Amino acid sequence: MKEYEVVVIGAGPGGYEAAIELGRAGIQTLLIDKTKEHIGGTCLNEGCIPTKNYLQSAEYASKAAYFSDCGLELELKGLDIGKLAEKTVHVKNELRSGVVWMLESAGVETLYGSASFVDAHTVDVSGERIGFEKCIIATGARAREVSVLPIDGKHIISSREVFELDHLPKSVAIVGGGPIGCEFATFFNAFGVEVTLIARGSQLLSGEDEDVAKTLLRAFRKSNINVLTSASILHAEVNENGVELLISGEREERIRCEVVLCAIGRDPYTQGLNPENAGIKRNTKGFIEVNGAFQTAQKHIYAVGDCIDTPAFAHTAYAEARIAAHNIISGGLDTNTHINPSTIFSHPQIASCGLREKEAKEQGIKIEVKKAFFKVNAKAKILGDDSGFAKIIICSDSNVILGAAIIGVEATEIIHEMVVAVEKKLTAKELIGMIHVHPSVSEIVRYL
Ligand SMILES: Cc1cc2nc3c(=O)[nH]c(=O)nc-3n(C[C@H](O)[C@H](O)[C@H](O)COP(=O)(O)OP(=O)(O)OC[C@H]3O[C@@H](n4cnc5c(N)ncnc54)[C@H](O)[C@@H]3O)c2cc1C
Repeated sequence: MKEYEVVVIGAGPGGYEAAIELGRAGIQTLLIDKTKEHIGGTCLNEGCIPTKNYLQSAEYASKAAYFSDCGLELELKGLDIGKLAEKTVHVKNELRSGVVWMLESAGVETLYGSASFVDAHTVDVSGERIGFEKCIIATGARAREVSVLPIDGKHIISSREVFELDHLPKSVAIVGGGPIGCEFATFFNAFGVEVTLIARGSQLLSGEDEDVAKTLLRAFRKSNINVLTSASILHAEVNENGVELLISGEREERIRCEVVLCAIGRDPYTQGLNPENAGIKRNTKGFIEVNGAFQTAQKHIYAVGDCIDTPAFAHTAYAEARIAAHNIISGGLDTNTHINPSTIFSHPQIASCGLREKEAKEQGIKIEVKKAFFKVNAKAKILGDDSGFAKIIICSDSNVILGAAIIGVEATEIIHEMVVAVEKKLTAKELIGMIHVHPSVSEIVRYL
């Protein structure tokens, strides 16, 4: 039986980041995933990278009218989704080669197959037994399914099948008002697809700032996205014309569409892993239980990323992976003390970090809210989109910035400055007083 100092299961952002850190530190590391094509995980293969590549085309399309006003004589004939899918595969392949190169440079070995725990120091990978001193589990998550919307990959699809569409549907009903639902609503809407977005909650993006969520709802409705909130699916019937949905909401209604995209959330993925064989515990939602240092019930086995109950972002998985790897290398018990930004690449974009206004009020913290609108930002106008705002939540007593929320152009870039401000406990005066490039979207901070 082959033995390794560390075995990492899953080659998504959590797994490959941890493996590279360990390899660079000279630790004999084996990284396991199902096939070589799985390297990069959900993020690279069916998550962050393909969605953002699709959304980039949507952004260009939505700006066409503005740039035509600027005299740019371009004719937008529509989208060849097959070509976009091909280009996306090309981008993914290039990025995957980059990850493989980093793994090889760090001296990490790879093995392809499905890993299953035999005991607390052994995994079985397609019949081969591998021993380890320590292990990191990074097996990710998968799209949640419900019996009322059985995914057939053709009429009722999950986010994964969007990248396999060979034509743009005439109409799509997106079930789920979370980040994935809102991003795909943006994508399809930009190319003239009739979009109905069905959200169970009374606001889109239930975890986000209320002010931001309301602004997104208004923007979606202005772009002719039919948004139904406090609504749920009672029945779905697939027929030769597409799908007919019976929806309960303010009133019961039926809608017909060519395709239904089910984006109701994601569940931790541990199928076939048999963590119980190693004495690892899962909580009632199926997440692997860890302590602050990312150790499972077996202290030599760690878990990071979407398979544990922390925010499901690739950047969160990266951060957790680095900390878990560092703890293995140093024997320490570091925890994640970093501010974790949340991002949605809808149109308009959304990003936030730290304490939300509502949370501060619930916790009885005396706050002041400063808000600035992109209407006064020169670069936003030049970019053809001056909608939205940025706001910061400040502690009234200390003037320290506790949180920030942005909706508008390049929000997912501007947020980094807010992350620094919240993490480093800057006061509003310190942040606003820093010199910002003119003209830039980040300059919005000057008007706070
Ligand atoms: C449509 C969509 C869009 C997204 N957009 C963003 C975004 O813009 N920004 C962002 O930060 N996040 C985004 N995410 C979330 C992001 O993709 C995840 O948070 C991230 O991929 C989690 O990384 P991970 O390493 O925990 O798991 P994953 O990336 O899911 O990787 C897990 C890997 O483990 C492997 N595996 C599982 N079980 C086994 C086993 N038993 N043996 C061997 N291998 C196994 C899988 O094959 C997989 O490759 C998006 C997700 C989706 C679905």
